[in-house]
Amino acid sequence: KSNLMAGKRGLIMGVANDHSIAWGIARTLAAHGAELAFTYQGDAFGKRVKPLAESVGAKHLLPCDVEDIASVDAVFDTLRDDWGSIDFFVHAIGFSDRSELKGKYADTSRENFSRTMLISCFSFTETAKRAAELMTNGGSMITLTYGGSTRVMPNYNVMGVAKAALEASVRYLATDYGPDNIRVNAISAGPVRTLAGAGVADARQMYNYQKRNAPLRRTVSLDEIGGAALYMLSDLGSGVTGDVHFVDSGYSTISMPRLEELRV
Ligand code: NAD
Repeated sequence: KSNLMAGKRGLIMGVANDHSIAWGIARTLAAHGAELAFTYQGDAFGKRVKPLAESVGAKHLLPCDVEDIASVDAVFDTLRDDWGSIDFFVHAIGFSDRSELKGKYADTSRENFSRTMLISCFSFTETAKRAAELMTNGGSMITLTYGGSTRVMPNYNVMGVAKAALEASVRYLATDYGPDNIRVNAISAGPVRTLAGAGVADARQMYNYQKRNAPLRRTVSLDEIGGAALYMLSDLGSGVTGDVHFVDSGYSTISMPRLEELRV
């Protein structure tokens, strides 16, 4: 492995277990020399995340629920007190009530719309602001999005609307922080079998459909998403900001399934 991340410190938010996209990113960054801090949401996830964090020598493992802004502030206060500055930040957090990740988007409730937007979109703006304050030598941050933001995917519903807003916020934040040499990008991943992914109705069928129809005829691995994150968060990506980068086996480029698919 390289020394691409040697001497760089950063925060990873969104590891729930070893299937999490955030974990694929974290272990890749660690393998290339990064020093990591993790957050976890609640004690049940904390128990799962602890051995993962230990396995990459993380110094900080901090509780954080983005619905509780005091817990967000506490995370960044701890990093400021101990590290003084950070170099990168990964936001891999999303949530919507699974009872609304099926059926019609039009049936989304006011309560779940607000909660989905807060956790899946605005939490990035709030954490990015705090992360940027600690990026006194410049830095790079990413969030995770999905192609349901710009094109309709069955059942993705309000999450698609939140991801569209998240992608727009990436462009605005990139513009705000560009003068400070802080880059802000999104990785748009193809479907991955995670806890959050399983919340979308018929997730398995959509996963298999993309496997059959994406140009690469497969889905993407956690390591492949980690590789893209390494590019975005290291100096390799130093000219890139405000981007939404697809890591999806090319699925976003096609406009029709394979003809064989139509004959089955
Ligand atoms: P995951 O379930 O492993 O991770 C989701 C994380 O969000 C969990 O760690 C959970 O604790 C956290 N979270 C939810 N609500 C929170 C809150 N209030 N406060 C703090 N943390 C909270 O699933 P994942 O698929 O790895 O999801 C990570 C990101 O990747 C999400 O933004 C998701 O939308 C995005 N994404 C997922 C896929 C996929 O197919 N799985 C595809 C593209 C993008």
